[in-house]
Amino acid sequence: MSPPSYIILGAGVIGLTTALELHSRQPHAHITIIAKYLPGDHHATYTSPWAGANWLSVATDNGVQESWDRVTYLKFKDLAVRSKEVGVYKMPITAIYDSKIQEAGVLSQGTGKIWYEGLVGGIKMLKENELPEGARFGCELDTFVVDTQVYLPWLQGEAKRQGIEIRRGSFESLDELFTAFPLVSAYFNCTGLGAYSLGGVEDKNVYPTRGQIMLVESPKTPMTRMYFRSPQRVNKDTTYVFPRGPHNGVVLGGVRLDNEWNGDVDLEFAEDIKNRCCALAPELGKPEDLKVIYHGVGLRPSRKGGARLEREKFDERLVIHNYGAGGAGYQASWGMAKEAVDLLQKGARL
Ligand code: FAD
Repeated sequence: MSPPSYIILGAGVIGLTTALELHSRQPHAHITIIAKYLPGDHHATYTSPWAGANWLSVATDNGVQESWDRVTYLKFKDLAVRSKEVGVYKMPITAIYDSKIQEAGVLSQGTGKIWYEGLVGGIKMLKENELPEGARFGCELDTFVVDTQVYLPWLQGEAKRQGIEIRRGSFESLDELFTAFPLVSAYFNCTGLGAYSLGGVEDKNVYPTRGQIMLVESPKTPMTRMYFRSPQRVNKDTTYVFPRGPHNGVVLGGVRLDNEWNGDVDLEFAEDIKNRCCALAPELGKPEDLKVIYHGVGLRPSRKGGARLEREKFDERLVIHNYGAGGAGYQASWGMAKEAVDLLQKGARL
């Protein structure tokens, strides 16, 4: 009997991790990743290169979303041992909130606690005199930052090393994909925002959440801490400073604008980001002295009701959907990949 073969449609962080997870469970399978955009490409609708990206869970469901983030935190812990090669660094974060803790979207439903306190080895709550003006509470914890410019090519390289084939290709519909690859055991739909328009899926629960960032040169004294400030964990007016390790620059952001498809950089708004970030992270120095490497806009693949992890049959063809990670695609990726492959093997919906 010939080994099973699989198509992964999409080469963002979700498609790449799904392919690697599938290979780890079925090393003899023939796996092909096919995507319009691949690591190294830049387009606002190809979200993964533009992410901050760090692990600071937004999940509060006391359920599957928290479990995806837990799996990924533990995976990052392993990967950070080879931080330079992989692009995942262990780093503390100072998170400042301008709402009361009960209104900040950080407490898990049911338990009323921050669910990951034990996972991250403890959370230190800041004293009132340690908070900046206007803040209601703040905390410090150990977590991870991902240098997307290193991590995405590393994931792609890992896939190639494992014998996973990677091709460029764009499809208008699932039917077109089925016709191009008829003899396949299952298709994984990891198209992110593409699921909005991909024929046969056309998921109108999917919508873009626009983000704008810039990468600036690392300060002379390397930064060793991330900063985050926002009214709530998920809010339009969010400010963050994420050093990409000690030397690969610092990402400054941001904003979260729902249903905004505009992928152009707003340079006036970039000045606002610089001011907010310098006020938050003194190590950055003055806004006028920052050296910008590039500006970027990415559209997060948000979805009403949360990410879609689901099996769907099209006659005899099996599609496993894994898209709609919104602003959490890095921190949930390995857990979502695990769930997608579980769905293949379980033969049942969640
Ligand atoms: P994408 O990266 O968009 O990949 C989709 C893939 O599908 C691409 O390869 C595309 O070409 C392909 N595709 C789509 N349609 C088709 C088609 N019809 N035919 C062929 N190929 C197709 N997440 C975190 O966890 N932590 C953070 O700190 C964080 N910060 C962020 C900051 C910003 C500014 C932004 C924009 C995002 C941030 N995110 C963060 C979110 C994260 O980047 C996304 O959740 C994640 O990148 C989504 O990955 P994806 O693989 O689903 O989508």
